[in-house]
Amino acid sequence: MSQPHFYDSGDLIGVLTTQPLGRALDYRAPEGGCHLGAFVEVPLGPRKVLGVVWGAGQGDFDPAKIRSVIRVLDAAPMRAELRAFLERAAEYTLTPMPAMLRLTTRAPGLGDPPSMRKIYRRGTAEPDKMTSARRKVLDALGAYGDLAFTLRELAEMAGVGTSVVKGLVAQGAVVEEDSPRDLPFPRLDPALPGKDLTADQAAGAAQLAQAVKSERYGTTLLRGVTGSGKTEVYLEAVAAALRAGRQALVLLPEIALTAEFLTRVEERFGAKPAEWHSGATMTERRRIWRMVGQGNAQLVIGARSALFLPFQNLGLIVVDEEHDTSYKQEEGVLYNARDMAVLRASICGAQVVLASATPSLESWANAQAGKYQRLELTSRFGPAVMPEMRALDMRAEGLPSDRWISEQLKAEVDARLAAGEQSLLFINRRGYAPITLCRACGHQIGCDHCDARMVEHRFLKRLVCHQCGETKPMPQDCPSCGAEGRLAPVGPGVERLGEEAAALFPDARIATLSSDMYGSARALKAEIASIADGAADIIIGTQLVAKGHNFPKLTLVGVIDADLGLQGSDLRAAERTFQLMRQVAGRAGRAEKPGAALLQTYQPEHPVIRAILAGDEDRFWAAEAREREAAGVPPYGRMAGIILSGPDVAAVFDAGNLLARKDAPLRAIGAQVFGPAPAPIARVRGRHRVRLLVKAEKSAPLQEALARWVAQVRLKGDLRLAVDIDPQSF
Ligand code: ADP
Ligand code: ZN
Repeated sequence: MSQPHFYDSGDLIGVLTTQPLGRALDYRAPEGGCHLGAFVEVPLGPRKVLGVVWGAGQGDFDPAKIRSVIRVLDAAPMRAELRAFLERAAEYTLTPMPAMLRLTTRAPGLGDPPSMRKIYRRGTAEPDKMTSARRKVLDALGAYGDLAFTLRELAEMAGVGTSVVKGLVAQGAVVEEDSPRDLPFPRLDPALPGKDLTADQAAGAAQLAQAVKSERYGTTLLRGVTGSGKTEVYLEAVAAALRAGRQALVLLPEIALTAEFLTRVEERFGAKPAEWHSGATMTERRRIWRMVGQGNAQLVIGARSALFLPFQNLGLIVVDEEHDTSYKQEEGVLYNARDMAVLRASICGAQVVLASATPSLESWANAQAGKYQRLELTSRFGPAVMPEMRALDMRAEGLPSDRWISEQLKAEVDARLAAGEQSLLFINRRGYAPITLCRACGHQIGCDHCDARMVEHRFLKRLVCHQCGETKPMPQDCPSCGAEGRLAPVGPGVERLGEEAAALFPDARIATLSSDMYGSARALKAEIASIADGAADIIIGTQLVAKGHNFPKLTLVGVIDADLGLQGSDLRAAERTFQLMRQVAGRAGRAEKPGAALLQTYQPEHPVIRAILAGDEDRFWAAEAREREAAGVPPYGRMAGIILSGPDVAAVFDAGNLLARKDAPLRAIGAQVFGPAPAPIARVRGRHRVRLLVKAEKSAPLQEALARWVAQVRLKGDLRLAVDIDPQSF
């Protein structure tokens, strides 16, 4: 590998910082010089900030005022490939470079010395006095088992001042010691034997391995029904990358998925991979960041932000469940990790594998157009077959308004209980009830900061806003009319369904799985593992259980409300419902016993419901594609959303109207503007949001035109503008 360019002491260099200043600023290389791409600390006004040496200086500042880099941080310089990726991603998403850079420098303590004092366990002494602040520190430490933290990290985690932690150290209640940092990851061994693959799987694995060996860019869409062995196949692509001495990244949509996945990686390669996600401790994140940069983490599995790690030699990116909407980052920098994976791979000469049982229409269209290779696994592994799918017509049931499990579904669950098999009842709604209504005045409790209803969570004993996370205690009296004891839940959430199931099946062991019911990802993983082991007869779950889990004893899936996703005007609603229903159904009958998936619906003739039942994906996609093509929307046209937000709704609309009028730059490329209209989420945290939608031909230079367009208006006061390329809903 060639060394990056070296700047001698005093050379004029450009340093890109994470401060919102636009471009790289001129500095002088420090004593001893620095490499292109080096992570450095530079003075900025009275402060010291983090930056990366981005190239030669521009030379347009007063030379006398140019300051020197303070120090070069102890980290491998950022490679040209990653710098190019950040620049291209910034252009594509219309994100300022500093914000883009922040995505890669989220490793805490980048410049810390190689060994540091860490607090890593409870001491033997009890503190003289147990205060609530001290309790928080001990709890925070306890929650992470044997990981170690610096004093500052621990205080931050516990939400207390550092003096509290110091006090505990002084009393011997916690122990502070020198700790070596950056334990290396155990080596993964691709030479260990994998499973005996079926002919289909082996052919797919060989095709992917061949592609990885080419050391060139390429994307493959790996489609196969749930349980067909997609994971087995792409693990062979990982093996090929490791054999070639290159690194691999596997993106997964949910942390909850990883417990099972980690075990499978360990079985295949003899050791666990590095695990990157927002729940990881700062120590762990720092370790991964550095090890990845040194090439000492061969395989990373992670959430979407893992794409921005400083890989030294990335040869493969797998995006599992590629259709999953959680790959779209909806706050801060708005990007779709699936698309960014393709971009990054195309820059560093890596292969991409997009795996899904129900690919996104975007990927399906790219495969149709020949831009992506295609790989299909048509049958489930072993004796497992796709479950029988049926609609349960709810119109015939005449259920009372506070019951959601039909008689037919109940009978099916009873049969599974008698046979010692598991059932899953699926409802895509967290909490107890979606609406809390005053029976006296009709008031529905809403969030004070958003345009959303507050959702009662009995488990948390609070009302929760699912939009902004605001919570408040459940009031006794109506906040509007003051009537006492007249607040009532309306409609079902996962907790309420759990109650109904407990009443209908009093002898069954029932487990309710919803992300908010587990304090930590670890607790959730443990729960899922024990359920897979057979610790529950009936699983009540939200979207969380739809994804990738293997429950070998599960033979029945009951979808409580198959119509839920079909309401609303979103053009993607059909695609989403189709994917979600097929995913949930795929949970049933993964081992020897055949499964059944029953969809409770009030509209069994709906074309989407019929396509789901028929399981004819190609026909569904083709029909969807025709509609989108006719409407000129993605993937057959391009779209962007412009979200304006501010505390004053009139000012936000004024700005939106002004932009809509000044549409000359868009008209120049033949694009149209719609709106302003209230955004899909019209108010968040007290800020009103309006959206303009821009639609253009596939080949139009959309980003350039958008940049020119939005640059025409100066936003006053508290107004903010965000560009959302390829919005999720339109
Ligand atoms: P998918 O990713 O398509 O849902 P998986 O790779 O998870 O499918 O496979 C489903 C189950 O079948 C897993 O438990 C997996 O270990 C098992 N399996 C798949 N292929 C094989 C094989 N060739 N030999 C043994 N077990 C297999
Ligand atoms: Zn809210």
